[in-house]
Amino acid sequence: MEGCRVLGVVQQDGPKPMLQYLQQHLPATPDVLAMSAPLKPTEVFRLAATCAEHKCPHYDGKDCQLATRVVQILPMVVDTLPPCIIRKDCRWYSQEGGAACKRCPEVTTVSYDLSPQQREVSGLAVYEEGR
Ligand code: SF4
Repeated sequence: MEGCRVLGVVQQDGPKPMLQYLQQHLPATPDVLAMSAPLKPTEVFRLAATCAEHKCPHYDGKDCQLATRVVQILPMVVDTLPPCIIRKDCRWYSQEGGAACKRCPEVTTVSYDLSPQQREVSGLAVYEEGR
């Protein structure tokens, strides 16, 4: 994806996956993404791209509803703003302020253990057996 960069690396050594933010800009080139092997890039990296606005299902014409749900539903995971180098360009931050940043480290691109709360944040349809 053009303009896509690596925001951070997902650390899996704690009770929950947490993002370690990169302190320099790193374009998400095919070579960089290949470094995640044998895992998928989205399992290792969190990527940041320019907001796609109307091409994205989370955009309602004014706001990013994913950012809104993150702030409304998820608890804060840090007390201070993470050292994030994209803050001045970040839609989540410009829309929700520091409240988004204090929840951001726990947001990962993929999760194989989606709790009902995480599903609600993602906006994914919930499949219930027997329906
Ligand atoms: S929400 Fe905050 S910490 Fe997360 S990417 Fe945006 S500026 Fe960085």
